Amino acid sequence: MCFELVFVARRGDKRIMINIQETVRTRVAPSPTGTPHIGTAYVALFNQAFARRHGGRFVLRIEDTDRTRSSPKWEVALIEALRWLGVAWDEGPDIGGDFGPYRQSERLSIYRDHVDRLVKEGGAYPCFCSSERLEELRKRQAQEKASIQGYDGLCASISSAEAKRRIDAGETYVIRMRVPREGECVFRDRFRGEIRIPWNQIDHQVLMKSDGYPTYHLANVVDDHLMRITHVIRGEEWISSAPKHVLLYSLFGWQPPEFAHLPLLRNPDKTKLSKRRNPTSILYYRDAGYLPEALSNYLCLMGYSRSDGREIFSLREMFEDFDIDRISLGGPIFDLNKLASFNAQYIRHLSPDELVLRLAQWRLNCDYWRRIVPLAQPRLQRLGDFVPMAAFLFADRLNYRVEDLLGPTKDQIRVAELLKIGQWELEKVENWEKDRLREVFEKIAVIEQIKLKSALTPFFVAICGSAVSLPLFESMEILGRDLSLRRLIYAQELLLAAGHGVQGRELKELQSRYERAYGAQE
Ligand code: GLU
Repeated sequence: MCFELVFVARRGDKRIMINIQETVRTRVAPSPTGTPHIGTAYVALFNQAFARRHGGRFVLRIEDTDRTRSSPKWEVALIEALRWLGVAWDEGPDIGGDFGPYRQSERLSIYRDHVDRLVKEGGAYPCFCSSERLEELRKRQAQEKASIQGYDGLCASISSAEAKRRIDAGETYVIRMRVPREGECVFRDRFRGEIRIPWNQIDHQVLMKSDGYPTYHLANVVDDHLMRITHVIRGEEWISSAPKHVLLYSLFGWQPPEFAHLPLLRNPDKTKLSKRRNPTSILYYRDAGYLPEALSNYLCLMGYSRSDGREIFSLREMFEDFDIDRISLGGPIFDLNKLASFNAQYIRHLSPDELVLRLAQWRLNCDYWRRIVPLAQPRLQRLGDFVPMAAFLFADRLNYRVEDLLGPTKDQIRVAELLKIGQWELEKVENWEKDRLREVFEKIAVIEQIKLKSALTPFFVAICGSAVSLPLFESMEILGRDLSLRRLIYAQELLLAAGHGVQGRELKELQSRYERAYGAQE
């Protein structure tokens, strides 16, 4: 596939027209619904490598049409994380001399026009079913263990005149895609060859929600087409969505891109990478002191090997001779120990002066100290007290004993439960700042009917390494969300290893009790 395109670029103050033969265009299309995920970085790096290797372009597109889950704050974190790691996109709206991302929430009228066209041509239809009816349908299908799940097509046969009358009368509706009931969808994946999925396993997907926002499937396909994406390289969890996308391409009469679904990253025990086992936030790795080039190098080895067998290489070297067909599908293991040894090798290769610079760029700098000093000042007798007092704000894992965590309480399970509840509640916090954190703990103390002070003891130890330390909420704010949450998980792992943790049935019970007590508060 080859596109000729003319675009305007800027050189100095001059705008110049460039005419190039563009062969490859790739993209990464994250949804800003949480902390920037390591899997996004992995997919981004392979997309960037493929575009670079073929003299093409790589695009960042923020898929923020899920209004309840997306937040600009997560978008900012995502861009910060990708940039830190060396991911660089080649075009986008000008944001003060740099490229911003494309953002779906700014392209709503485009999706509306496209869905209107589909409805007019019969590829999609308005559906007026209430959420109660859909819930009943879902329950019935589950009870009957129906072989076909999903929407039953009730509104698919409403005439367009009748649909118009109901819309004009103000009924709420969504737009669904008309999916064939017979035969199978056949498409190609670069790594897997031909994939066949029976159409009756594909739901009449909602394309446009009642609030006028498109769903992922519609916006994703429309944008991939309009942005002339030639290769969709993404995680394999999207294979099951591909038939919907293939159908949309054919309904619009467009040529689909080539699909290449990357294998999912796995924990060392082969389970899907999840934050319960491994830290998954890119920013955790930054804050814990990993070098970006070590992390990006390690991610480039996930499912990929160079023909010369070399494991340590720079992004530039990756881009120079990247061969997508050397990706293998056996689930790549994201192993923290291996990453740490990569990081150690990279650190050894820095000159002392470079290392000084890296330490300063990381957290050994005045900006970071300035945030700590107001907490330490009232507690300092000598300047030399500062470093030991603040050391926990520079570390990854802390050294303390299980007994410290348990404190005076005899109720070990209770401590484990509190840490778990604290973790769940803190994961929900949008604005990671001290007053918000205090509110979380106050709420926990009320619901759990304990004094705030005793609720806080295990958190002091988990976060600061000791029950006597700098103030907790301020320390957590300085330490940041990812490192703080990670420490709570470490503390629970430590308890589990000592036989005091909650897991299995107890964990399930705790979860449902938690959902009842805390969910009701929302
Ligand atoms: N928005 C989807 C995500 O969050 C994009 C999937 C795709 O690449 O098509 O990963």
